[in-house]
Amino acid sequence: MAVHESEAIVLKVFDHGESDKIIVFLTAQFGKLTAIAKGAKRSKIRFVGKLELFTRLNIRFADNKYSTMVRIDEAELLAPYPALRKDYERFLCANLVSELLINWATNNDQDDNLYNLATWAITQIANDNPLSSLLLFQLHLLTILGFHLHLSSCTLCNKELQPGVDFSFVAENNGIACTNCLKGNLEENHIIALSMGSLKLLEKARQITIDKWPRFHFSKNSLREVTMLFKCHNQYLLQRDVISWQHLEDHLRNMKKM
Ligand SMILES: [Zn+2]
Repeated sequence: MAVHESEAIVLKVFDHGESDKIIVFLTAQFGKLTAIAKGAKRSKIRFVGKLELFTRLNIRFADNKYSTMVRIDEAELLAPYPALRKDYERFLCANLVSELLINWATNNDQDDNLYNLATWAITQIANDNPLSSLLLFQLHLLTILGFHLHLSSCTLCNKELQPGVDFSFVAENNGIACTNCLKGNLEENHIIALSMGSLKLLEKARQITIDKWPRFHFSKNSLREVTMLFKCHNQYLLQRDVISWQHLEDHLRNMKKM
């Protein structure tokens, strides 16, 4: 068995048998990692307060060439982010970040951009505006994954954004299309109507540097529209439902209109 160390974020944790826990991590050096913590349910010292959802840790683990699951032996707490487990809106947003990372991150694949983005998102969602931070996370996640959204003109006729022309996001085109091009197809799956305000905000969000992100805020209407865009696009790309979106949508629907 080889022993390794890495910084990591807890994406998922569940009980296993009488005394163990299984944890899915996003690690800085090894991509997504599934680990077993032996005796973690009973131990009062070794892992207490550490193997909680969304915490950031330094972990030491042993791998075994016969198993895809590693054994975690030690964890040092770097950031506990208690607000993510106490505040419902922050929890919903962090949960979606975590579910998206579980779906998109790969095992044994170091991706500094992905890990830095995940750390940034979890920290922002814990301390700043959670909904805007979540959207910026999703926008940049798609870019890191190689899906650069085409938002400045129609992907079918090249017509540029202009007042009086309505645009919708079309998942399979990876970008927007004008109403003329879509004609009667607006009711189809994977097409989301977007206001000019949301489109301009997304474009601007993509151009600003990471240090300016915390000052970036979406209106509630844009939050709803852009949340639907990302839900539709991810479900189209992953070809499966991402459960956390439903809870977030319910939450956004219940928010008072601005
Ligand atoms: Zn068009």
